[in-house]
Amino acid sequence: MELSKNGSPSNHHKVIIIGSGPAGLTAALYSGRAALNPLIFEGHQPGGQLTITTEVENYPGFEHGIQGPELMDVMRKQAHRFGAVSIYRNITKVNFEVRPFELTDEEDNNYTADTVIVSTGASAKWLGLDSEKHFMGYGVSSCATCDGFFFRGMKVVVVGGGDTAMEEANYLTRHASEVILIHRREEFRASKIMLDRAKANPKIRFVLNTVVEEILGKTEENKKSVVGVRVKDLKTGEVSEIECSGFFTAIGHEPNSGIFKGKLDMDENGYLVTKKSTSETNIEGVFACGDVQDNYYRQAVTAAGTGCMAAIDAERYLEKIEFEMHS
Ligand code: NDP
Repeated sequence: MELSKNGSPSNHHKVIIIGSGPAGLTAALYSGRAALNPLIFEGHQPGGQLTITTEVENYPGFEHGIQGPELMDVMRKQAHRFGAVSIYRNITKVNFEVRPFELTDEEDNNYTADTVIVSTGASAKWLGLDSEKHFMGYGVSSCATCDGFFFRGMKVVVVGGGDTAMEEANYLTRHASEVILIHRREEFRASKIMLDRAKANPKIRFVLNTVVEEILGKTEENKKSVVGVRVKDLKTGEVSEIECSGFFTAIGHEPNSGIFKGKLDMDENGYLVTKKSTSETNIEGVFACGDVQDNYYRQAVTAAGTGCMAAIDAERYLEKIEFEMHS
């Protein structure tokens, strides 16, 4: 890669990737192999959401599973092998109205790029309890598809009253002996069909008008595990405990798209809009992949797939503008 006089990456790049989950790192791998020397802004959670999970058993290619942080580490090394360079800072400002595009990082360094790949991901919303942080990855999760399998024959709690909560609860009944769905109201945001399906499932028990005050667990040497939750009935004020081994928050996700507001097209929930079957945004030369543009599949493997698409789309766009410049 090119280095400026002080040894930091030079400021103009053919491809700048913002975000370092499976989408961003796969985009880096592909654009690296296309000799485009991509610069990846990894932010403050390099590797993205997978770095807060433990075992990943559904990423193809790992017969016996792999730890989330290790998977991301390997992906990064693979991308670096082909010339990608990581910067562990956030991009805080973008200007897509000029060519080349202008980007500024949190330390006010400026960069320009012919193409930008946005892979800033989404963040699960959390209740914000200290115990939730403490047991994250050790019984606390926000992804039933990723972690449900670890609770075979056990009781689990799901918090939320929207479609995600119903979907997660239904999914978890495949593994858990009982799913206790805790919701703070009596009315649901969930669609009727999803709610009816959950209500008809004999393995799901509804606990309504109730909030979780604390996640209860054990910490022994290096082993942490969840044993229950302390809840409060909002109607009676009664505080009680519910036994469980797993705790799933399903109170929504937020796409990390704040810096693109007013600059890239997004839906009413802030997810970036891409043209059908491509990674193209409304700005030519800016591509989006991974969870920041997907509120439906949200899997590491689908994010990686769209990262590959974004790199190929960026490469073809660069070829096109180069051809146009010389003809
Ligand atoms: P929603 O915003 O629809 O629902 C979030 C739920 O979490 C609400 O019931 C809300 O309670 C509750 N909640 C929020 N914050 C807290 C908190 N701090 N403490 C306790 N409870 C809280 O998010 P979803 O992720 O469920 O859905 C997002 C979008 O994705 C929706 O449009 C949905 O239809 C869609 N979706 C579609 C699916 C499908 O069709 N298969 C599957 C999953 C999602 P309250 O109601 O009291 O505010």
